[in-house]
Amino acid sequence: MRDAYHDVVIVGGGHAGAQAAIALRAEKFAGSIAIVGEEPDPPYERPPLSKAYLSGAKAFERILIRPPAFWAERDIKLRTGERVVAVDAAARRVTTADGAAIGYGDLIWAAGGHARRLACAGHALGGVHTVRNRADVDRLVRELPAAAEIVIVGGGYIGLEAAAVLVTLGKRVTLVEAQDRVLARVAGAALSRFFESEHRAHGVTLLPGTTVDRIEGVETATGVRLGDGTILPAQLVIVGIGIVPAVAPLIAAGAAGGNGVLVDAQCRTTLPHVHAIGDCAAHASAWADGATIRLESVQNANDQAVVAARTIAGRDAAYAAVPWFWSDQYDLKLQTVGLSTGHDAAVVRGDPATRAFAILYLRRGRVIALDCINAARDFVQGKALVAAGAAIDPALLADPTRPLKSLLPA
Ligand SMILES: Cc1cc2nc3c(=O)[nH]c(=O)nc-3n(C[C@H](O)[C@H](O)[C@H](O)COP(=O)(O)OP(=O)(O)OC[C@H]3O[C@@H](n4cnc5c(N)ncnc54)[C@H](O)[C@@H]3O)c2cc1C
Repeated sequence: MRDAYHDVVIVGGGHAGAQAAIALRAEKFAGSIAIVGEEPDPPYERPPLSKAYLSGAKAFERILIRPPAFWAERDIKLRTGERVVAVDAAARRVTTADGAAIGYGDLIWAAGGHARRLACAGHALGGVHTVRNRADVDRLVRELPAAAEIVIVGGGYIGLEAAAVLVTLGKRVTLVEAQDRVLARVAGAALSRFFESEHRAHGVTLLPGTTVDRIEGVETATGVRLGDGTILPAQLVIVGIGIVPAVAPLIAAGAAGGNGVLVDAQCRTTLPHVHAIGDCAAHASAWADGATIRLESVQNANDQAVVAARTIAGRDAAYAAVPWFWSDQYDLKLQTVGLSTGHDAAVVRGDPATRAFAILYLRRGRVIALDCINAARDFVQGKALVAAGAAIDPALLADPTRPLKSLLPA
């Protein structure tokens, strides 16, 4: 039995889900489309949650992906506040937590991920927060006035961005990172060192190589006990330790995957008429030496959405875009192109002391990625070097007087 039917049902109204619906209409897809999302709001941009929305510089209305009227104008049904709990691929039907059954012609799974939580004692106390959705940040902002001391667990982009905002708001911020440097999972050591010195200069206490034993407190957090027994007083704790991909209903339905659901270059899962895109989609990437990876970026969500939409609309499409990403901390704009994981050499271009420079990463002599700090021109021009896998003399790459585009082999 089913309560409703749509030619395309999109599960998840985040960046990927919204863009899939937009792209289907751009492809002149005339069938019915519904987005079923568990959050109460229409699709909004997630990156500002740890930046301008957290600081209060941008109101929620300014981070909507499209104005509220857009969806009805394009005949895209938004079913907000509904969580899909089961998929029946043979019957082409999803079921929501409230028991509604929704039939589909094609399913696009765009459910992203949920914030990973600490497993230690005290992880569920009041005052312990994650930063994944609007509700998380609204809750956190409500508690901010009563918090003078804040501990952030995790030195990835979200932890560092939150640290930058909160120390600027006058809070005493300590950031704890288990690895021996921040950004260890995504960037080379030189970039980590640069951001570490920036955060320290702005007053953040950084504790790399430090583990969390437990969160102290009775109902509400009062501090964080570290692995060595030290207790850091804290009225608020922010946990930024990654996500768990939201794929359980698809895996239970028989889709291949585990840490994400496996998709091919057309964003098709191993289940018929079921596609997956965005943070939850695991795909073989030429930019990662052929490894199967998930990318957590707006660009990946948008580009995979377009591929899925074109495939459903019967057009040729294959996902092969060069990955890119950005992060804003203080007055620093980091723009990254390519994936530096597995690099065997890094070249610093320009002087980090000027706070405008780039780092190029090479593997077997070829450029595979760039991190550009306040260096938009290198970001734009460097993309072609990554796309071409160009082999270039490191001494030339290191010379900031030579535009990167002039180094691209003819
Ligand atoms: C704080 C923060 C800052 C970021 N900053 C940047 C940045 O600067 N640059 C950048 O490129 N990327 C950034 N990202 C990453 C980027 O936001 C994500 O890569 C992007 O949102 C992924 O889009 P998505 O649609 O795959 O997933 P999401 O945007 O997470 O959307 C998935 C949606 O599906 C919903 N959902 C999950 N399960 C179900 C279910 N069973 N039923 C119904 N709905 C469900 C979720 O609640 C969510 O609304 C940031 C992310 C965060 C959290």
